[in-house]
Amino acid sequence: MVTQISQTQAVPLQTEAVREVVSYDPATGEELGRVPLGSAEDVARAVARAREAQKSWGTLSFRERGALVMRARAVVLEELEEIGALISREAGKPEAESLSMELVPTLDLMQFFARRSARLLKPETIDIGLYRFLGRSSKIVYRPLGVVGIISPWNFPWAIPLGEVVMALMAGNGVVLKPSELTPLVGLKIGEVFRRAGLPEGLLEVVTGDGSTGQALTEAGVDKIMFTGSVATGRRVAEAAARRLTPVVLELGGKDPMIVFEDADIEAASSAAVWGAFANSGQACASVERCYVHERVVEEFTARVVEKTRALRQQTGASEGTDVAAMSSERQLRIVEEHIREAVSRGARVLAGGARWKDAPERGTFHEPTVLAGVNHTMDVMREETFGPVLPLMSFKTEEEAVRLANDSQFGLTASVWTRDITRGRRVAERIEAGTVMVNEVLYTHGIAQTPWGGVKQSGLGRTHGRLGLLEMVAPQHIHVNRLARLHDAWWFGYTPEATRLFRSLARRFATGSALQTMLISPQLLRRLLDKRRRH
Ligand code: NDP
Repeated sequence: MVTQISQTQAVPLQTEAVREVVSYDPATGEELGRVPLGSAEDVARAVARAREAQKSWGTLSFRERGALVMRARAVVLEELEEIGALISREAGKPEAESLSMELVPTLDLMQFFARRSARLLKPETIDIGLYRFLGRSSKIVYRPLGVVGIISPWNFPWAIPLGEVVMALMAGNGVVLKPSELTPLVGLKIGEVFRRAGLPEGLLEVVTGDGSTGQALTEAGVDKIMFTGSVATGRRVAEAAARRLTPVVLELGGKDPMIVFEDADIEAASSAAVWGAFANSGQACASVERCYVHERVVEEFTARVVEKTRALRQQTGASEGTDVAAMSSERQLRIVEEHIREAVSRGARVLAGGARWKDAPERGTFHEPTVLAGVNHTMDVMREETFGPVLPLMSFKTEEEAVRLANDSQFGLTASVWTRDITRGRRVAERIEAGTVMVNEVLYTHGIAQTPWGGVKQSGLGRTHGRLGLLEMVAPQHIHVNRLARLHDAWWFGYTPEATRLFRSLARRFATGSALQTMLISPQLLRRLLDKRRRH
């Protein structure tokens, strides 16, 4: 079933034949609502509606589109508490994180793209070198793609799809969004916000469903797919897109390293490691999943990390003062348990946490924030994405070794380097294979609308956010103008012996890019142009 943006609440079943997705609160197991499970036909209808609505939307100015995004932003502000509570309940996270990690960054992103897209997508003149002297000029203009399909995960069910919706709309596209089956109500809320803001009917379609609905979207003939999720699903999406030659951006998993040098501010770095590993219960693609600490400070750093981890308050997301709340699903929780079990069976030591939270509500999916030592790169916890509240610590001796360990991974999303020596920080950052490397920071740059987000290696393809992300939402079109149209080109037909001689000179002189060299053959060139004009 397609849920149009006018449909805001979970939809009750109409007939037995309608398949549905049930949304649960992972902290309690309580049912939050039911939504239709979209079929391939529903997806096709949504794409057709978005395509129709895009025709006039694509002709609006950036100012007009931006005004609408700003109205949607005002709606978000009006409903800040309600939206924060919904995100917290459906994704299981502390309300503080719904505000700080989902709402604050997207409110900023909305104003940024609403105000800056015109400048970011301004037509650009290209310097075409010596061709300018032949009366030519070139420009790039950025055209909307048409309809962008967005397939998003459950871990940041608001911030990830909303950012992409805003960029796609500002670039003049229609959008079909397929939220995760674990967080469909948040996905529908995004549609509702834009409907209340007055977005044209059909321009943003939210189709709830499961993996089959996502698959249908990859096969529905959209003009681009923005996919965020696991490597395994990303590969399936890329295969389906390749069959239709649909361009695709893949924002996939991570196993992000944090390197702490001996001169780092250990107090700040240890707090950053604890937040970077356990915020959102460790379910962030950019979570700190591996921490390498210089041997001279590893003891002090570990002691502080353990102390700060034990001091975290674990409760349901709605409770006041919660630091760490639920994980999104039992499936994810089992991966965490398995990684810890495998590591411990091979010699790792649990310094804090290590098990499901024993005081959790009966059907709640909570895992304690866990610190591990004695780990190595043969263990899953150092190689595979854990995507849960686990912080493995390992020591190193030299800068070389730290870089080698950080790069010893199939992933390359983000990384962080901690040192008081910024020159060293930058030097090491440039040697790390990752889409983003932070010096003295962790995790948070997805929240900066101006900076690009995306990975290398198995962490994905393409970018979202910033100018590079906005460019993913447009088709660059090159417009080339010849102001001397009356002159025939020297390289057109009429391949006389003189012409062949001229082409040899072009190869030796014009193709050097040097104006001086080209001037030396200008009499030859002029003769050819005038001769061609005489012949026609
Ligand atoms: P999944 O890959 O399981 O799902 C992602 C989305 O794809 C969901 O909407 C899912 O639908 C949908 N989907 C499932 N099967 C298909 C299919 N065959 N074709 C098209 N779409 C499909 O990821 P998770 O939701 O479990 O998210 C966690 C993963 O996302 C982690 O690996 C994490 O690292 C990554 N991630 C990456 C980020 C980045 O920016 N690089 C940011 C956040 C997360 P449904 O849920 O309904 O099954």
